[in-house]
Formats: sequence, structure tokens, C-alpha cells
Amino acid sequence: MAKYVIVGASAAGLGAVEAIRKIDQTGTITVITDEACSHYSRPMISDFVSGNADMKKINCRTEEFWKEQNVEAVTSKKATVLNFTEKTVQLESGEKIAYEKLLIATGGKPFVPKTEGSEKDGVFTFTTIGDAQRIAAKIDAINAKAAVVIGGGLIGISVTEALLKRGLKVTMVELQDKILSLLLDAKGSDIMEAVVRKAGVDIVTGQSVQKIFGKPDNDGAVGGVLLTKGGQVSCDLVIMAIGVIPRTELVMGSAVKINRGIVVDNFMQTNVPDVYASGDVAEAYDFIINQNRTLPLWPLAVMEGQVAGYNMAGKKTTYGGGTNMSSLKYFGVPIVSIGLANPKEDPTLEVLVKQDIENIVYKKLVLKNDIIVGLTFVNCIESAGVMFYLMKNAINVKKIKQQLLSDDFSWATLPIGLQRKMSVVQ
Ligand SMILES: Cc1cc2nc3c(=O)[nH]c(=O)nc-3n(C[C@H](O)[C@H](O)[C@H](O)COP(=O)(O)OP(=O)(O)OC[C@H]3O[C@@H](n4cnc5c(N)ncnc54)[C@H](O)[C@@H]3O)c2cc1C
Repeated sequence: MAKYVIVGASAAGLGAVEAIRKIDQTGTITVITDEACSHYSRPMISDFVSGNADMKKINCRTEEFWKEQNVEAVTSKKATVLNFTEKTVQLESGEKIAYEKLLIATGGKPFVPKTEGSEKDGVFTFTTIGDAQRIAAKIDAINAKAAVVIGGGLIGISVTEALLKRGLKVTMVELQDKILSLLLDAKGSDIMEAVVRKAGVDIVTGQSVQKIFGKPDNDGAVGGVLLTKGGQVSCDLVIMAIGVIPRTELVMGSAVKINRGIVVDNFMQTNVPDVYASGDVAEAYDFIINQNRTLPLWPLAVMEGQVAGYNMAGKKTTYGGGTNMSSLKYFGVPIVSIGLANPKEDPTLEVLVKQDIENIVYKKLVLKNDIIVGLTFVNCIESAGVMFYLMKNAINVKKIKQQLLSDDFSWATLPIGLQRKMSVVQ
């Protein structure tokens, strides 16, 4: 009997394998993934499209990883049925794999809105290396000149930059009034929008695509899009980059509790004995809003996978929690956005802002009872690490509030007592 079975072998699955092996060097581990190779960095697939990185650079583990970790890797195979009574995972082929401890790390899948013409040749999603390879091959095959990217969030902006680097004319279509609206407030978004436009991208906000139409001489191939307010954009490719939703189909209709994602406790355990869940598929603890929710972020998936792995191997470990935290650099502008970066009007929140339009710098802190609960730094991210420490440890910043947004704020600005405490923790 395989002692540990893990479905999904990306950030959360890999984190779990490494944690299990730290505790248990002999128990058998089987990972099941429907990708041919899944140990690659998903945030880097845009570098594959742009030509900035090959597979070797994108891989986040070596070819020998499974052997080194003494793992049986079942690749290119989909897990389809879980049986919690006989404790087995069934593959599409009918083969059954028995488990003592099971981790569901099936991640997210792209959200694809129903759109007329979405079956046409040249329409892609953008979440896997397979998507990136197909897009890159298509660009070469048809000598693509223009693309429409649907979605102006993190995934949308990453693929937009990659396509631009490949020499395509790109139009980004975003349903909200602002791009990157989950990370930035209106001011921050305006700054980024100006940067992206200056790089040559057309941005259409406040509407979406109602229809993808074909080329005049080949209706089966993408020729352009019709926008919801009536405008048209000609293109050779359409990339659906709207976001991801938890990939819960494996547990749908089973005894495992699901809200938006799989419900887990602080040990990443589901309501079913010996069954754990981690990563984009799970609803894990957010220490800012003090409740569980889905947070599709790479480092959190790794940490959640590690916590599940330790617990599966018998080392009781609590997940300390994460929050909405993104660190990115597209179009040459670094951005860090953590926690309540863009909260709704709330009299209990205090907002500190500093802006330098000329140098494209924007800093914003959101405080509640003198504790930092949100931050957004655009093009000036040096102090983000210290701020995150203050935030994560709920440190009262009343005495240093005036200095928080100053250009020279750093670890050294903090009171000596706090510096000592930090150096112990770090
Ligand atoms: C383009 C892009 C850019 C991103 N940029 C960032 C970024 O800058 N920063 C950041 O923090 N995060 C980023 N993310 C998000 C990050 O990649 C995810 O949070 C992370 O990959 C989640 O890891 P996971 O292990 O939970 O799931 P996933 O990475 O989704 O992996 C799940 C794996 O399980 C497999 N699987 C699913 N169901 C089955 C089944 N039934 N049988 C077998 N195998 C199955 C899937 O094929 C996949 O290989 C980005 C994501 C994308 C797509």
C-alpha cells in the first residue's frame, strides 16, 4: 500500500513531498499528475512565451527530483474517483492506488466565460506550460501579428507583456474600470495603466468580449473580437486570462466539504479522516481578515503543502496563515501588494498615501487601530519586507507612523527594542 498519495504535483504537491521526506524517509509516496511534467514554475510560463526562458530555466526541480525523493511519479494520468471507505484513488484508466494519507493538491483551473466563437482556432487559456507551448507554436505557425487578451489582472498582464516582447500588437480587455483591480486601488491602477499604454498596449476597460469572429477567408480561425459596447478589434489570437477557480471536480459530490474551495482546518486537513488539501484548491487561513478563503498564490501553496506534508507524516504542524500578497514586476515596474490593499470605504481604517507621479512612485498603507493591515508599493518596494514583518506580527506603529512612508524608512528606523525582537525572529 502506498502510504502517502498526492494528487497534483505543482507548488503544493512539491511542498508536501519535501516536508514528508524530512520526517519519513521510508514511507512510499505516490504523486499523480495529469501533466507530463508539472514541476515547473507556473508564474514563469510567460517567460516561455516571450522567449526569455526555456523549459530548463522554468523547471523548479531537477529531472532527478522524483528519484532523489524516492517518489513514484504517475505522470500524464488523471485521478477521477476517490473512495474514502476503501481508501483508494482511481485513475481514468481504472487503475486504483491505495492510500493511508491523501493530499488533494489539484490547484486551479482557468475561468472561461461562455463566449460565442471560443471554439475557434487561435483561442487559448493561460495557466499551464502546455498553454504557453501551444501559444508560442501558434505565433510561429501563422506568423501572428495581433492578440486580444481578455482580463487585466495578474495573469492578463503577464501574458500581455510576453506577447508584446514577441512583437505582437496587444489589446487588453478588462471588464472592471481598472486593470489589476485586485492588487491596486484606482490611483495605483492609473499609474500602471499609463506604463502599459506607453509600452504600446491598447487597453479597453469597462467592457468585455461578446463574440470572437473568424477570418474572412477562414471562419474557423480567429479573426477578431466584437466588444460588448460594439467596437471591434482585429487579431489572430485571443487569450482568456480572466483568473483561476479551484479545481474541485475530484471531490465534487463526495463527503469532502467544499465552499468555493475545499474547506480545511489549520492542519490543512479536510472533514474526511486522513484526507488533506492544500494550494489553490483549498480555502486556507487569511490572517488579515481572520477567516479562511482561497488565495491563489505560489508561496502560499508551497507553505500549505508543507504543513499538510508534516501533518500527514505525523508531525503536528499548524498553518500560520497567509494573505493576499503579490510581488510582481511587469513592464519594468515592481509592485508589492499585501492584505487590504484596496479596501472599501471604512471609517475604522486609516489610509496613508505618498505619491510621486514623475517617478511613477506610489505608496499606500492601510491601518486599523494603528496596525498595518494593507500595503501597496509601486516602483519603490525596498521597505516592503519590514512592513510585512510589522503587518504579520500585528505590531502597533503609532509611534513611527510619521516615518512609515518616508523614502529612507528601513529596519534601522524601528525602535531598538523592536529591532532586537526582529533579529531574533528572522
Ligand atoms: C500565468 C500565471 C502567473 C502567475 N503569477 C503568480 C505570481 O506572480 N505570484 C504568485 O504568487 N502566484 C502566481 N500565480 C499563481 C500560482 O502559480 C499558483 O498559486 C500555484 O501554481 C498554485 O499551486 P498548486 O500546487 O495549488 O496548484 P497548481 O499549480 O494549479 O497545480 C495543480 C496540479 O494538479 C494537476 N491536477 C489537477 N487535477 C488533477 C487530477 N484530477 N488528476 C491529476 N492531476 C491533477 C494539475 O494539472 C496541476 O499540475 C500565477 C499563475 C499563473 C497561471
